[in-house]
Amino acid sequence: MSEISPQQIAFDQQHIWHPYSSMINPPPMYPVVSAEGVRLTLSDGQELIDGMASWWSVIHGYNNPTLNNAAHQQIDRVSHVMFGGLTHEPAIELSRKLVEMTPAPLDKVFLADSGSVAVEVALKMAIQYWHARGQANKHKLITIRNGYHGDTFGAMSVCDPVTGMHEIFSGMLPQQFFAPAPQIGFDEPWDESDIAELSQMLEQHNDEIAALILEPIVQGAGGMRFYAPEYLKRARALCDQYDVLLIADEIATGFGRSGKLFACEHAGITPDIMCLGKAITGGYMTLAATLTTTEIGETISKGGAGCFMHGPTFMGNPLACAVANASLTLLQEMDWQSAVNRIEGELKRGLAPAADLDSVANVRCLGAIGVIEMKEPVNTTEIQTLFIKRGLWIRPFGKLVYVMPPYVMSNEDLALLTSGMVESIREYRG
Ligand code: PLP
Repeated sequence: MSEISPQQIAFDQQHIWHPYSSMINPPPMYPVVSAEGVRLTLSDGQELIDGMASWWSVIHGYNNPTLNNAAHQQIDRVSHVMFGGLTHEPAIELSRKLVEMTPAPLDKVFLADSGSVAVEVALKMAIQYWHARGQANKHKLITIRNGYHGDTFGAMSVCDPVTGMHEIFSGMLPQQFFAPAPQIGFDEPWDESDIAELSQMLEQHNDEIAALILEPIVQGAGGMRFYAPEYLKRARALCDQYDVLLIADEIATGFGRSGKLFACEHAGITPDIMCLGKAITGGYMTLAATLTTTEIGETISKGGAGCFMHGPTFMGNPLACAVANASLTLLQEMDWQSAVNRIEGELKRGLAPAADLDSVANVRCLGAIGVIEMKEPVNTTEIQTLFIKRGLWIRPFGKLVYVMPPYVMSNEDLALLTSGMVESIREYRG
């Protein structure tokens, strides 16, 4: 096993940006040299159980033989080719699977390079759609607070303006409409007042609004909140009533994470545009997809431009598509539903004792997602050393200590993960 030298770490700290990192006060870095199943191996030989699935994506575990094989086979054929004017089997088969798996009538697929780009593509589709229908005035977006949709400019414009980490850029972001975040939790009784303000805003401004974009059921990086399916049902109905498209950002929730294949299914609705990413390749490489309907696809194509105006260099990368095909086949064959239900049960049982700690405000689980919300923000570096001491990889933010493990995590490892979280929090702040 190759070790990473102190000189290499020093180079990393001096020269390499990590996500949301400082160049003068770099956080500690834990060098990974290999990974297998649900465990990461650090340069010093320590193994960590990965509670993060590399930010929702590694659903089948690391170094998965089926995914490795798909990558090897494809790399020996063609690893990349431009998608303009050329096509290939991995993209065709992946798109066929996506159309089959997602709710009808989503049947047009745009293969994007990352989650943020899939969101940009969705926003552009919505705006181009209304433009093609002669309603160029419908170019604004409405969203709900506490949302997170990515770090590019269009995506930033619909992230929560307060928790969205993007207020520095607010001067150049397009100003969108923000309705309050849903307050009624996943299992709580519905009350119409929860959606009253969204309803009013749509009534007043629908002539300027192209689409409502939201994360269905689970608001991820903007707060790890689970809201009532009825909210989503009503939001769909309001979009129909006011001629506004509905964009479901399923980048985090897609492919089973919330306990349904797609979180929209909790409410039995189909969006007009759906964004997928993260778990699509089992976390092997970057790939995302934006799906829409024939009606929207054809309307855009009949517009002045005659085409949809987007086409990145690495669109439909064959290597990523081949691994995504293998990942989705594995998902369909593995009885993901039982795996996610099992993880939900273990997370609920294992995290319950945290609710008794003075420092904890709330414990909640949905599907393969477990969240401990603290009363005060935690110091990530400090609390991480307590997790590492117990052989766990967890990366909290703000008040949220949360996990979304790979679907292949055993009950024994889930018990280590949850008991280690509770013990670490107890040691951190009692
Ligand atoms: N949308 C949601 C709901 C996300 O959770 C994320 C990433 O966390 C994104 C979009 C952006 O995806 P990416 O980081 O791949 O650009």
